[in-house]
Amino acid sequence: MKSFIFEGSPGRVVFGPNAVDDLPREVEQLGATRALVLSTPQQVALGTDISGSLGDRSVGVYPHAAMHVPFETAERAIDEATRLGADCVVAAGGGSTIGLAKAIALHSAMPILAIPTTYAGSEMTPIYGFTRDGRKTTGRDHRVLPKTVIYDPCLTLDLPKTMSITSGFNAIAHATEALYAENANPITNLMAEEGIAALARGLPGMKAAPRNLDSRSDCLYGAWLCGAVLGRTNMALHHKLCHVLGGSFNLPHAETHTVLLPHVLAYNYVAAPEAMSRIERAMSASNAASAIFQLLRELGAPTTLEELGMKRIDLGRAASLVVESPYYNPRPVTYDEVLALLDDAFIGRSYPPERSKL
Ligand code: NAD
Repeated sequence: MKSFIFEGSPGRVVFGPNAVDDLPREVEQLGATRALVLSTPQQVALGTDISGSLGDRSVGVYPHAAMHVPFETAERAIDEATRLGADCVVAAGGGSTIGLAKAIALHSAMPILAIPTTYAGSEMTPIYGFTRDGRKTTGRDHRVLPKTVIYDPCLTLDLPKTMSITSGFNAIAHATEALYAENANPITNLMAEEGIAALARGLPGMKAAPRNLDSRSDCLYGAWLCGAVLGRTNMALHHKLCHVLGGSFNLPHAETHTVLLPHVLAYNYVAAPEAMSRIERAMSASNAASAIFQLLRELGAPTTLEELGMKRIDLGRAASLVVESPYYNPRPVTYDEVLALLDDAFIGRSYPPERSKL
């Protein structure tokens, strides 16, 4: 076995149906008395309920979280937290809301209590990001890692089916890249494999019955594990592609992860045999790339970059941006091959994995 470093999560996880009922106890456990609750405008009702459940320990709701954490939104939220004398932020929502909490924590070192309602996984990572003048900046800082995470599958019952599916593939993509990461280790491998298995089990059940609590629990449990490995390993080609397509071509986050995933797996197939075996074991399948493609089709997920709004004429520029700065990937990354991959993803070509070569 190779030597490795595993950083255990400093956070506390409370998981289960109605776990959100434990929120007052969890805020108290953090030693906080003035929690500011964050949500998006769309989830203000959830934010208000959560704030109400905290009684005197809440200083109010700030329902202005927005996609990609605009810098001005973060500044206003920091001002509001300061004005109200908040000593903790409670983020109830998806990656955008948790991202806003991270901006406040980065500025103030205030503890975050996260209550995720999607499968994006931000609550498990020390990664923060914000956008300013159309440019997304990201960084890592342990101050932004939530101290406590409450996973309550009941809060995901109304996450629309299509969003649940793409958010689920977003999570699976964290785990597949973690399995072939340079700094993968036996513990992250276990978590990644279990995370993929839980989502591959939960998503079809969720599609058949979106309010089925067992399927929703599987999905959220899988999302937790996938988010945990995202925070502990370095991502490779897949996340680089998604960063470029989201940041420079404004493609939607979870959908882009969804469309690209089978193509990146086919690209890395021969170069990462152990990772592929683990994905195949998790999905009870004989080929990781085909199994993901098949699952996309079964679930009715998007399969082409074209349907996400990408223009064919921009594929070359995207490929150039991807190869611009070197980074680790199990198979070398070249302009021509990235362009071919993007072209496959543009039309959603399905092909036998034997086509992938080193
Ligand atoms: P999101 O947080 O933007 O949510 C999308 C919409 O769905 C919002 O309107 C939200 O209010 C709504 N919503 C969320 N949960 C719901 C529910 N249960 N029921 C009904 N509506 C619900 O989407 P996301 O995919 O969770 O997050 C994407 C963002 O997170 C991106 O900006 C991405 O870069 C970031 N992200 C960051 C990390 C990290 O580690 N820093 C990891 C993953 C994603």
